[in-house]
This record gives sequence, structure tokens and C-alpha cells, in this order.
Amino acid sequence: MRKEYKNEILKNPWVVGIGTAILSVFLLKIFDIIASTTILLSLWNIIKRSFNFLLNFFLQQYESPLWFLLLLFVTGILALLGLLYILSMFEKQNNTSKTPPFSNYISDNFEGILYKWTYYINNNKYTITNLTPYCPKDNCIIYQDACPICKASYYNIKEDSELEILIQHRIENKMYVQT
Ligand SMILES: [Zn+2]
Repeated sequence: MRKEYKNEILKNPWVVGIGTAILSVFLLKIFDIIASTTILLSLWNIIKRSFNFLLNFFLQQYESPLWFLLLLFVTGILALLGLLYILSMFEKQNNTSKTPPFSNYISDNFEGILYKWTYYINNNKYTITNLTPYCPKDNCIIYQDACPICKASYYNIKEDSELEILIQHRIENKMYVQT
């Protein structure tokens, strides 16, 4: 329990962010002390200089007309909207490729017995699993060749392999009713 709580704290982006910042300040201090006392000094100076250069580069001030800033702002928003649109298109495409039309076809009656099943999806390949025979009158699972509710006997329960063929036949010939 305590360990999970600890993990939660470690996964918190604020904790990670602040932690990293504090750690980097510490590391910089330590590096500074080490670097100033060894021959690494010149290398450290180069790193510091390039860091200062980058900092100055990004802190440069430009005078620009208001219309330019507004244009930049509007362009940014349009670009963001465009990006969101493209992402939503991808999402839609993924959804349609993930769910074939027969995914709701999960029960059918073969020779007086109701069968229900689910699909196991792997690499976009659908496999029929969990084939279970039901009493069509009570919608109850058949137990030991009989319905526990109405006591009707069912001796003609089909093998899974035969049922898979029958279901596939109805899917391929679009003879199924979605439930
Ligand atoms: Zn029954």
C-alpha cells in the first residue's frame, strides 16, 4: 500500500518537474566546484558560454508591429486546429478499421439451440471464442444437456469447430442479424 502511494508521488508530473529542477541545480553546483578545481575548467567555460549564448539569443528583443503579433497568434491557433482535425481523422480511421460490421453479431440460433460467443481480436484477426449453448426459451445456459429452468433436454449441441464454420458462413454471406 505504502509502496503504491510512493509510486503515485513519483509519477506526479509536478513532483517529477520540481525534483528534476532541484536536482539539476545541485548537479550544476557540484559540477561547478569540480570544474573550477580541475583542468575541466576550460571545457566547463565553453559549455557555460554556449549556454549564455543560447540564453541571450532567446532573450533578444525585437520591435514588431501589432498586426504581425496578431497574425502570428491567429496562425498558431489555425495550426493547432488543423493538427487537432488531422488527429481526429486518424482516430476515426483507426476506429473503423478496428470494428468490422459483424462485431455485434454475437448470438444465433442453430437447429433449435441458441449459441452466444465473443470475438478474440489479435492483429486485426477475429477469432470466435467462448461458444456457449443457451436454451432459446429461457435464455439460460444449457447445463449437462438440459435447461436448468424449463428442464428441456438438448442432445444436439454442436461442436465448437462446426459452430465456427456455421457462424463464419453467415458472416461471409451476410446472413446474420446483429444483436
Ligand atoms: Zn429453458
